[in-house]
Amino acid sequence: MTERWDLTALYHDFSSDSFLQDREKMKEMLTELEEWQPEEKREPGNSAEEFIKILQDYYEVYSKLMGYSQLRLSVEARNEEALKIIEQLEKESARLTAPRVEFQKWLSGLEDRREIINSSELLQEHSFFLEELVEQSRYLLSREEETLAAQLKRTGSSAWTKLQQRLTSTLMIDVEIEGEIKKLPLPEVRNLAYKQDQEVRKSGYQAELAAYPEIEESVAASLNGIKGEVLTLIKRRGYQSPLAETLQESRLERETLDTMLAAMKDYLPKFREYFRAKAGVLGHEEGLPFYDLFAPLGEVEMEFSYSQARDFIIENISRFSQEMADLYHRAFQERWIDAEPREGKRGGAFCYNLEPIKESRILSNFTGSFSDMTTLAHELGHAYHGYCLRQESILNTSYPMPLAETASIFSETVITNAAIEEADSAQAFAILENKISQAGQVIVDIYSRYLFEDRLFAEREKAALSVEELKKFMIEAQQKAYGEGLDHDKLHPYMWLNKPHYYSAGRNYYNFPYAFGLLFGLGVYALARERGEDFLTEYKNLLTATGRNKVAEVAALVDIDLNSRNFWDDSLSVIGEDIEKFLRLAEKR
Ligand SMILES: [Zn+2]
Repeated sequence: MTERWDLTALYHDFSSDSFLQDREKMKEMLTELEEWQPEEKREPGNSAEEFIKILQDYYEVYSKLMGYSQLRLSVEARNEEALKIIEQLEKESARLTAPRVEFQKWLSGLEDRREIINSSELLQEHSFFLEELVEQSRYLLSREEETLAAQLKRTGSSAWTKLQQRLTSTLMIDVEIEGEIKKLPLPEVRNLAYKQDQEVRKSGYQAELAAYPEIEESVAASLNGIKGEVLTLIKRRGYQSPLAETLQESRLERETLDTMLAAMKDYLPKFREYFRAKAGVLGHEEGLPFYDLFAPLGEVEMEFSYSQARDFIIENISRFSQEMADLYHRAFQERWIDAEPREGKRGGAFCYNLEPIKESRILSNFTGSFSDMTTLAHELGHAYHGYCLRQESILNTSYPMPLAETASIFSETVITNAAIEEADSAQAFAILENKISQAGQVIVDIYSRYLFEDRLFAEREKAALSVEELKKFMIEAQQKAYGEGLDHDKLHPYMWLNKPHYYSAGRNYYNFPYAFGLLFGLGVYALARERGEDFLTEYKNLLTATGRNKVAEVAALVDIDLNSRNFWDDSLSVIGEDIEKFLRLAEKR
């Protein structure tokens, strides 16, 4: 079986006729958008329809071109042509801003907007999209200001982001491993936290902390620069806070976020029991030191060949849904997946949904480990989400961050639970521990990141922050979130420095959506288990609606009330059951 993907459904090459034709078409569409004018004599409905149609055509061709170029680059890091084309596409697509602002302002100014939208089938289909444009337009600056802001960002926050990336990816660290001093890049040193040998984990942590002072001042300047710019802009736009902007972009109500955070906070003690039990297994009395947070407990000696992983996933998902199983089968059969690790291919895994051709492509680096197998299941879940959206207008396919992980977490949970059932008791213990450890990151660590970022914004508004202050805030956030679960003398004061999430000016509070994603995914999974097959149609409707509704409306489709504590408590107790099981098993060891 071949383990590389087939991209010919998109294009054969950058030089193929269809690629060149589409590039021309993209430019034509942009020109048409620029030339679009609402004509006074015509019905406003016709003008809006015209804009929507060109925009659809534009996105169909743009996503195809960009998708192909990104996918090529992801497996050929040194492909200069791909890099150049991506840069050109990005630059060309910036032409979209002006006509979009124009359209937004026009649309917002229409007095009888609702009637106009209701009078046309096409506009009705896009009513959420249109209303969101109107909502966003409240925060738009003038055309000149928007252009200036976008230009200044390139030398402001974007430049700071690149500096942080550069400093953290080129920092070389001396670390002692088994009596030998090695020079390793930061990401590799951080990965030592997953090693079997405690001494290695500890030495990695110490070396990491000792290395940061070399770059701390510059990275703190980046962070101050980025957060400062964000604060200037959001105030100008009229948002109450950076959080308000993120909530709007996430299509989430403040009440929902507060309800979820309160539920998480109340559940922290359960996680602390787990951290303390893990500390006990590893021989610590004062709670877990930060360097043992990710320590594996026992080895999951489950190896899978690529075809075994495929069969295991398809067989177990088919117990839930034949349709999902058929799609997963098709993904393997039609070579949607690039699984083979090789030089020049990027690390990690992702799923890229290609709306214009109604297919997906999945990148993974499959080496046969248990987590490689569950990662595949996770990415296939994303592909199923894309599949559910295949009949939607391309303008109705972009879903907000909090809903992005629903299908993937669902799929991964089904497969992980199936594996636990098949495993012997030692394996099951290791898998279970790993699962809780990951959930602990998404609930407890994310909680600490939320606290930290909230304080960061509040303090940055007054003045730039020193390295010492940043370290202090981070330590205090960790103490609040982990409580007695972690050893307070062995925390991690530099987590603000190495997490890329704090360094994206366009994605503030890029933390709570993870917790939302996990808890919502688990909640939906719990419903599926409870309601059985009847639930599948509802689940599909939910995924189909993710691109054209507020998050609360999507949840309401399966009778979930996101503002009720019960829902969040139930989701958390799914993890709680795992923790209970773990505590019983840990006691016997
Ligand atoms: Zn994912």
